[in-house]
Amino acid sequence: MAFDKKSIRAVIFDYGNTVVEFSRTQVVVCDAALADVLEKHFGKPDFEKLSAIRDRNRLAPYAGDPPLYRENDLVEITTAMIQELYGLDPSPEQLAEILRARFEVFVRIVRAEPEVYDLLDRLAQRYRLGLLSNYPDGDAIRESLAKTGLDAYFKSVVVSADVHLVKPHPVPFLTILDDLRVLADQAVLVGDNWVADVQGGKRAGLNVVMLRQWETPEKLPRKPGDFEPDVTIGKLAELDALLL
Ligand SMILES: [Mg+2]
Repeated sequence: MAFDKKSIRAVIFDYGNTVVEFSRTQVVVCDAALADVLEKHFGKPDFEKLSAIRDRNRLAPYAGDPPLYRENDLVEITTAMIQELYGLDPSPEQLAEILRARFEVFVRIVRAEPEVYDLLDRLAQRYRLGLLSNYPDGDAIRESLAKTGLDAYFKSVVVSADVHLVKPHPVPFLTILDDLRVLADQAVLVGDNWVADVQGGKRAGLNVVMLRQWETPEKLPRKPGDFEPDVTIGKLAELDALLL
């Protein structure tokens, strides 16, 4: 094992495809809900075009050379999406309703497996737990944590939307380490995304466990010189053997 669990004080989890599944299955449901509300206001959208825009939006924070790692602004990207699909500007009321639909479908679709609660319960007795998510809507993450009851386990929740920068930028990592009052080398980050979690976590000096339980929708390529995770696991339940 690449780290000694005796020196670990905190375990920080990514959210989508780490604590809860958010693979193509969930993405398709979210895209369909968005298509429905768009249709209600503007007519049937070109679904292929819509899903291409959504894929592009998901990758936008990581694009550019060097990338800025700036989180999307939901109002900005939703307005641009409507302009691109229909060639018109949404009214403030239409925009509010579309953002509401995005929020509601996300909260409705996010679910955690029963074993996750047991695992977090055991880990919380020994470690400070945190949640560090790349998502353009902090309220949607917090509402889904409240609805699933997962919020009970996390002493700190940091969402990219709140700090305006996504992992792998150091700011989200420094923010949650500060919140949990631990040093980077006293923390383990568990995540599925090669760039955001593995590269971001290692660059910030954390120990990193890469989870390959679900398919990651925003596939970001490996580059020469990339850090390797300290440990790779296939199921979240393997954290038991690793940390307890
Ligand atoms: Mg993830």
